[in-house]
Amino acid sequence: MTKHLQEFQRIADANSGNRAAGTPGYDKSLEYAAQKLRRAGYRVSTTDVEFPTGWAELAPPELNVVAPTPKTYTPNVDFLTVGSSGSGDVTAEVQVVDAVLPPGPTPSTSTAGCEASDFAGFVAGRIALIQRGTCPYVQKATNAKAAGAAAVVFFNEGQPGRTEAYNFDIGEWRFGIPIVFADFAVGNELAATPGTQLHVKTSTRVDVGRTKNLIAETRTGDPNKVVMAGAHLDSVHEGAGINDNGSGSAGLLETALQLAKLPVKHKVRFAWWGAEELGLLGSNQYVEGLSQAQRDKIKLYLNFDMIGSPNFGYFIYDGDNSDNVGSPAGPPGSAQIEKTFERFYQKRDLNFRGTDFSGRSDYGPFIEVGIPAGGLFTGAEGIKTPEEATLFGGTAGQAYDPCYHAACDGLNNINATALDVNSDALAWATATYAYDLSAIPPRATAANTAKSSTAKTAATQVAVPEGAAS
Ligand SMILES: [Zn+2]
Repeated sequence: MTKHLQEFQRIADANSGNRAAGTPGYDKSLEYAAQKLRRAGYRVSTTDVEFPTGWAELAPPELNVVAPTPKTYTPNVDFLTVGSSGSGDVTAEVQVVDAVLPPGPTPSTSTAGCEASDFAGFVAGRIALIQRGTCPYVQKATNAKAAGAAAVVFFNEGQPGRTEAYNFDIGEWRFGIPIVFADFAVGNELAATPGTQLHVKTSTRVDVGRTKNLIAETRTGDPNKVVMAGAHLDSVHEGAGINDNGSGSAGLLETALQLAKLPVKHKVRFAWWGAEELGLLGSNQYVEGLSQAQRDKIKLYLNFDMIGSPNFGYFIYDGDNSDNVGSPAGPPGSAQIEKTFERFYQKRDLNFRGTDFSGRSDYGPFIEVGIPAGGLFTGAEGIKTPEEATLFGGTAGQAYDPCYHAACDGLNNINATALDVNSDALAWATATYAYDLSAIPPRATAANTAKSSTAKTAATQVAVPEGAAS
């Protein structure tokens, strides 16, 4: 592993000091791992990942009623283009989605568009008119897009202080349809006349960068029972990313190279994700690109993001929510995975603690579609408590990783003991499940993912070749 980390450092040094998605430092890191995996006998492939590199509004938007009574609204006063909106010129009937009009007594009385079921009667090709309230705009737009909306007009909810149009960025550039935000008066007026024919136009430019996930799969093992383990390979632009996440990447790579010598019972698929630092994009797009049948074959997913922090703690993802903080428990099986890691530390008489199963690393997209997951973490910018210093050693009152997302995340930013122990845990858990999945409860297929609209979209895809993603 030390050799892998030295190579990652050398690659960063030769390429502007980092290994960020879309840069030569990332591509060379991927090629380094891919070559070793190919030589070890793995079936090696890559899947495409897109990420936004810029967004610009090229012209003011247009919004006007065509019929029954023509009326033109004033851009950047009555309404404005939502950040990350696609470009488009749409004339269609407007359809109100689950609005509360007149507005409720308190902010977020409206839950308009937050549930896919809000769009049950929505006619594809129409313009969705969606009130502010309760959930993020991106969630409303995701549901609208899935329901076939040709454009989205958001409007403010209507309570005092919640009437004007304002600027925001929806943070998702892949909808590809016009999205504008109007003040309450406009929304209220459009909602009042069923059958209104509306014209919406936005002129924007979305710049898209491309990178890749690296996938390596054993040639042996039951292809209907896939054990997946992953780590993000990209760093931030600020540094070489040796702890974040050279540590997980190197542990995973060495585990794969060693496991290649064993006749595994279940297929083992390793993933080195791209563009995690840009919002889990590699893992997200990978899971999105799988058919339901392909998802059903993945029996569990193990994640390793920062496993050698200099002021480390031995933290296991709290898959059963026994700590009762933050996010709820993961899909059935996540508790058992947590137990597997607990047993590893117990056997070595090492202390461990849970860490919130927040979904904020590459396991997030997996648990979202019902695949059980687990993994390890040695801490990032958080501060070590005195209790943790007693459990793990190190320095209380200091960050677990003082060089988190900084230029100093280099070869010296690794605790060799933590990396050694955790890479053994990684190998042990992966090998355990490669031979024995009896601890993981069988899960009902398709039903688990019914709550995810993106999953439903992908489930309708047919005949995606095994292993191919987006
Ligand atoms: Zn990370």
